Amino acid sequence: MSFGLEWWQYVLIALTGGNIFYLGVGGAVHYYYYHMKRAQADQWKMQPNKWLTAKLNRHEIIVGTFNMNMAAGTFGFLAWGIIEHGWGQIYWNFSDYSLGWAGLSVFLAFFFIEACAYYMHAAGHQPWLYENIHKMHHYYTAPTFFSISAMHPLEWIAHASYIVAPAFLFPMHWSLYLFVMMTTFFYGFWDHSGIKLPFDLPFHGSNRFHDDHHKYFHVNYGFLTPFFDRIHDTVRREGHHYTEDTYANGKGTVNPSKLGNKAIGPWVSYNTQQEVDNNLQERLASGEKV
Ligand SMILES: [Zn+2]
Ligand SMILES: [Zn+2]
Repeated sequence: MSFGLEWWQYVLIALTGGNIFYLGVGGAVHYYYYHMKRAQADQWKMQPNKWLTAKLNRHEIIVGTFNMNMAAGTFGFLAWGIIEHGWGQIYWNFSDYSLGWAGLSVFLAFFFIEACAYYMHAAGHQPWLYENIHKMHHYYTAPTFFSISAMHPLEWIAHASYIVAPAFLFPMHWSLYLFVMMTTFFYGFWDHSGIKLPFDLPFHGSNRFHDDHHKYFHVNYGFLTPFFDRIHDTVRREGHHYTEDTYANGKGTVNPSKLGNKAIGPWVSYNTQQEVDNNLQERLASGEKV
């Protein structure tokens, strides 16, 4: 496979495409909600009463754009190596491997990315790493989609590395690898947007899961799915109290007067339909006619 282009042309294409997506498409969705529909925030915003200050907003756009361009430039260079020089294990014809393998490779890539995301993130929530590295991503307690890449550059490099890794670890058809990368970006976008999605994303549940991570700190570490959080019991629990200083990996502090002798609350469900039902119950209970 070859287009006969130079490395800098790949880098230029990747930078242009990356900025069209991040600042162009993402910025347009952000502008539509956060500026044009600001007055109706209670209908669409996950945390309608909480907005980033103008200073933090600028901070996340500058750091986020810097990191996104660093990743896009590197991806462009790697794409040159992969396409023009056959680096890595990307293949071009579905007939090169069985369809069974093609399906399995998608599962493996998602699994690898999620395992790296979860364990790195959980490590980032241990006190030393949190205070020195990961805290920057938590300046944004009511995240907007720009927060997706607004973090310490070292942490960003680590995240970008495991997203690139599947292309080098095992054979993947180029279109399937692109699909995995785009899905990862898409999930990250909705997770940080602060905008309620009216439906659950596959294997993911409500996008409130990660918004709550920014709101409650040491809970909900998963990225594509909450499965690892369930295995390691780091899902936020109802009735528990969470602050930035409570390093208790999902447990927070428990108030026995709220939970009675149970003293351990149930996991929050993060199911969109459940949330709609709960809101309806609350509105009915407050006497509102619905
Ligand atoms: Zn975090
Ligand atoms: Zn985040």
